Amino acid sequence: MTASPADLVREFHRAFGLDARDTPAEVTPELAAHRGELLAEEAREVAEVSVTGPLDRLAHELADVVYVAYGTALVHGIDLDAVIAEIHRSNMTKLGPGGRVSRRADGKVLKGEHYEAPDVARVLRGQGWMPGREA
Ligand SMILES: [Mg+2]
Repeated sequence: MTASPADLVREFHRAFGLDARDTPAEVTPELAAHRGELLAEEAREVAEVSVTGPLDRLAHELADVVYVAYGTALVHGIDLDAVIAEIHRSNMTKLGPGGRVSRRADGKVLKGEHYEAPDVARVLRGQGWMPGREA
């Protein structure tokens, strides 16, 4: 892929006159609910094909989830790439000393003693978010 999902989805929103913001902000409850429904619909489609496939359908629905998630971020003025980077930074702190990984019996990676929770509010403030202010 040559362009990031954020760029592709911004192009889509521009072309179809959909909402897009440059600064993080709360949006109207109606718009927020609409975006939530769109994402829930795509997540349901992933669940439907996760076990049964076929694989191209699963790939399609996974891409739809990411596309809609980036769209929802754009509607709220969130730079989602930066938030993902913060989540990744935090996840990598789950590594123990010397790169030791602790896992639960079912395979889930556990938080070690060096774990740092993601600070998403700090990332959004860095993007100009002022909590409580509407767009
Ligand atoms: Mg779909």
